[in-house]
Order: sequence, then structure tokens, then C-alpha cells
Amino acid sequence: MAILVTGGAGYIGSHTVLHLLNKGEKVVVFDNLQKGHREAVMEGVSFYKGDLHDSDLLDRVFSENKIEAVIHFAANSLVGESVEHPISYYQNNVAGSLNLVDRMVKNGVKNIVFSSTAAVYGEPETVPISESDRTVPGNPYGETKLAIEKLLFWADQAYGLKSVALRYFNAAGADSEGRIGEDHTPESHLIPIVLEAALGKRPYVSIFGEDYKTEDGTCIRDYIHVMDLADAHYLALEKLKRTEESGVYNLGNGTGFSVKEVIETCREVTGREIQSVSSPRRAGDPAVLIASSQKAKDELGWIPQYPDLREIVKHAWNWHVNHPDGYSAQ
Ligand code: UDP
Repeated sequence: MAILVTGGAGYIGSHTVLHLLNKGEKVVVFDNLQKGHREAVMEGVSFYKGDLHDSDLLDRVFSENKIEAVIHFAANSLVGESVEHPISYYQNNVAGSLNLVDRMVKNGVKNIVFSSTAAVYGEPETVPISESDRTVPGNPYGETKLAIEKLLFWADQAYGLKSVALRYFNAAGADSEGRIGEDHTPESHLIPIVLEAALGKRPYVSIFGEDYKTEDGTCIRDYIHVMDLADAHYLALEKLKRTEESGVYNLGNGTGFSVKEVIETCREVTGREIQSVSSPRRAGDPAVLIASSQKAKDELGWIPQYPDLREIVKHAWNWHVNHPDGYSAQ
């Protein structure tokens, strides 16, 4: 039996594929390569280039492989872009997932682990955030992910499709052996941007807002190592198979770092000078996002292996130094 990973050529998807292979699982990857990289998928893994809207291709994947479960990453995931292009976000994320779920039900595949996000909460009520807190997304990206979570809830009631939704906080880092890493075009995430400045690919880092109600005035986020996220997907599948119970889990470290602290950590890890410039706030950024992941620890048995921000940055830096132009140079 194999696990189908949609979006398996993307950042978190490709690290999860690597982790599943390390666990001895058989993996099939489905990706349209709009954002993903073919080079990020290990050799020997069955690969289908295609779109979630393509029902015939999905049916072929299900008939050509014995798929026991799906891990679903394929989505557009930029908050700012989602505000500018909500229709495309609903089309790709909601309609694409709807089609995937439809084909899963028709093909008798009963388990799915879904890549959700802290963006479903919007401006948090409490810190740290727990799964039972209210969900009021502040942008179309978060709305589409919440809509898919709700689809999965109702698909469980109607068809017995079991799901785990994993709400990630800030994914960062890279494979500790440096085989794969983070390569987005354009890059919008803080840690790779700071490392690009360390490499001299950018003159400086813009700090989006220094007037938040935090100790140093900059936003605080909960950074989680991408391989720890990958492990949570594996554990979520194991739990689904064991208990046949659906669930929703936050994934974070429970510790927050400000933008300035992240930049300082990058200076220490890289030993390079990194200039920063004060810039206006970015629309839609909550001041503080920190996860309570107690539920994932208790119910999935999840124990993050790389909770230290320095180590997260170290692994990301190792990838960036060796791949200054990302996958395109390979
Ligand atoms: N950020 C920043 N400068 C940048 C990119 C990001 O100050 O060039 C800030 C951003 O405003 C947020 C934090 O860094 O407070 C993390 O942003 P990122 O886009 O990495 O993740 P998000 O929290 O949006 O998921």
C-alpha cells in the first residue's frame, strides 16, 4: 500500500516525502510543479505531474497504485496574494480539494491528512492558541483552508472519510543532511529572506512594523522545524489507521521569537553582517502567534526533535549556502 502526497514537490511536502521514505513507506507524489520542484522529490518515487482539477488523472493515480491514504499539501499559500486574487485561491484550494475528496470517496480511499494553517484563527483570542479557540480568518488563504477543514468534517459524517487537519505555525529549516530545502519564488518568508541578505543576495531585510505591542515592537511568531512537521504527518496517519478518528491539531513549538530576535539569531548562526531597515506594517499580520501543541503531543505522541531556533536556522543556512540559487542551479 502507498501514500499519495499531493504537493509533494513543495517545501513541506517534499520534506514529508523524505521522512515517509525514511520510515519505509511507499510514496506516490502528485504535483502540478507550479511552485514545487521536481528535483525536490527523491529518485525512485512515483511522480504524477498534474492538477487536482483533473478527475481523470486522479482516478488513474488511484487505479494504478494501491493508495491507503492521502496527505494533501497542494495549495496556494501566500496571504497577500490571496487578498489580491481570492477567486484563484478558492479555485485552487477549495475547488481543487473538493475534487480530490470526491475522487477519494469514489475510489474508496478513507484516510486523509490535511495541511492547514494557523491563519484559520485570524487575530488570536488567547496566547498560546489552542484548537478550540474561535476561527475567524483574516484573509482568503485562511478562509480557504478553513473551508476545506469543514468539507472534511462533513465528508466524515456522510461517507466515513477520516481526516486529520494539521494547523502549522511558521515552518522553517531544512533536511538536516542538506538534500532538500526551501526555495520559493518570490520568497516571502522571514528566515529565508534574512539568509538571502546574509548571502548578499539582498541588501537588507525589511522589518514589517516596529510598533506592535511586543517587547521590542516587532511581531512574534512560533517557528517549527519542517522535519518536525513532517513527522507530525506520519504520526497523524498512524493515528488515523489505529483509531479511525478524525481530529484537528496545532503544530508549533510553544515559544515565540520576534522578528528582531530571528534576525539576531541569523547573524549569530551565519557569522555574517545582516542589515535591517524599519518598514511599514504588512497588512493582516497579527502581533503574536504562538501555538499550544499539547494536543498533538498527547494524542499523536509528537515530540519535536529540533525545537531550538538556532538549529532551525542552522539547517536552513546549510541549504542556502550550498544552493544559493535554489533548485534552479541543479
Ligand atoms: N517579516 C518581516 N520582513 C520580511 C518578511 C517577514 O518583518 O521581509 C515578518 C512578518 O511581518 C511576520 C514575520 O516576519 O511578522 C513572519 O513572516 P512570514 O512571512 O515568514 O510568516 P507568516 O507569519 O506570515 O506566516
